[in-house]
Amino acid sequence: MIYKRSSELFNEAKKYIPGGVNSPVRAFNAVGGEPIFVKEAKGAYLYDEDGNKIIDYIASWGPLILGHAYDPVINAVIEKAKKGTSFGMPTEIETELAKLAVSMVPNIDKIRFVNSGTEACMSAVRLARGFKGKDKIIKFAGCYHGHSDSFLIQAGSGAVTFGSPNSPGVTEGTAKDTLLANYNDLDNVTSMVAANKGEIAAIIIEPVAGNMGCIIPSKEFITGLRELCTKEGILLIFDEVMTGFRLGRGGAQEVLGVDADIVTFGKVIGGGLPVGAFAARDEIMDYLAPNGPVYQAGTLSGNPLAMSAGLAMLTELNNNPDIFRSLAEKTEYLHKGLEKALDKKGIAYQINRFGSMISVHFTDEPVIDFESSAKGNNDTFKKYFHGMLSKGVYLPPSAFESYFLNDALSYKDLDDTIAALESLDL
Ligand code: PMP
Repeated sequence: MIYKRSSELFNEAKKYIPGGVNSPVRAFNAVGGEPIFVKEAKGAYLYDEDGNKIIDYIASWGPLILGHAYDPVINAVIEKAKKGTSFGMPTEIETELAKLAVSMVPNIDKIRFVNSGTEACMSAVRLARGFKGKDKIIKFAGCYHGHSDSFLIQAGSGAVTFGSPNSPGVTEGTAKDTLLANYNDLDNVTSMVAANKGEIAAIIIEPVAGNMGCIIPSKEFITGLRELCTKEGILLIFDEVMTGFRLGRGGAQEVLGVDADIVTFGKVIGGGLPVGAFAARDEIMDYLAPNGPVYQAGTLSGNPLAMSAGLAMLTELNNNPDIFRSLAEKTEYLHKGLEKALDKKGIAYQINRFGSMISVHFTDEPVIDFESSAKGNNDTFKKYFHGMLSKGVYLPPSAFESYFLNDALSYKDLDDTIAALESLDL
């Protein structure tokens, strides 16, 4: 494939935008080479600026679960745009989307819309802290909850007690209120809670993780976490920015059979427009301004274009819950095909899959947490990523990301993807 125009556009972008991108992973730093500039997309395919047609396994990092430029979503946005793009005043469609989301997801009475997953998680934690009157939170190493200060904390030698900033600009003061635990390790969280008894406002988790590749919580871990939170009076926050409206109508809560106290959303709920949301039962949500003391706001929150895209998307999913089964079946088919192709190559690998989330790690150990995920061989991953791209298949440009299948992918696309892998020399 030729990427001449993409390369020119990237060079031009770098003059005016840091690194040429508006979100770092897009720059291909983890895999080397230069990013592809997209011209347009439809269904399961991207069309880049050089005229290449590419099968897309990212779907804008999750939102486009029904494929690119899905007609009902696009038409809803066009019609809405003709009537004005923003008012900063209440509109009926906000209530329509809220009502639908609340009807689909367990354990939530009210929902507040924001503009990104970052905002959703940041606001959920503020609400939890305000509601509980406590400062500390626990997060899990390898889980990503957006780029707000409290979450940019990574494991280090002092991780068991205090986190340390992993980005300059995050103060030590902020870092000390975020404790870091290991995913799938209930004993670790339990002892952390015991060491900080009565001081933890909330535990936030990706109920199925997608930011260290796809990682599945063990039943014992996720149900144990719920029991621990209930026993200790800690709010359990499920970050369903990836899993919400993707794993099922009711998201991970429904699929795992575990209740959360606060749930955050992003991606699918906005149908490809900038939407995030956080939701909980009345008692917690009424703690939020203007009803309660915890402040949170947004000029473009509940924006009519974003709401119309979200409403069209959730309406489709609500009316056709079979989509989740169809997507899971496609993902399983892909899993088996990739497995067969990799087995023939005789290299060490692991494939993790849950619903329509899947990832490949080049390691011989089961991938169950950040540490095991980080053991993947990145040289092999780079060859795999660029090899697949050269065959017209776009995978996430980092081994720490999950693929998101979209329902526009056909079995022929999946077969072509598997054939692409078979033909690679890794
Ligand atoms: N939480 C999770 C689980 C995510 O995967 C992401 C983004 N990938 C976020 C929060 C942040 O969302 P956004 O990029 O919309 O700010």
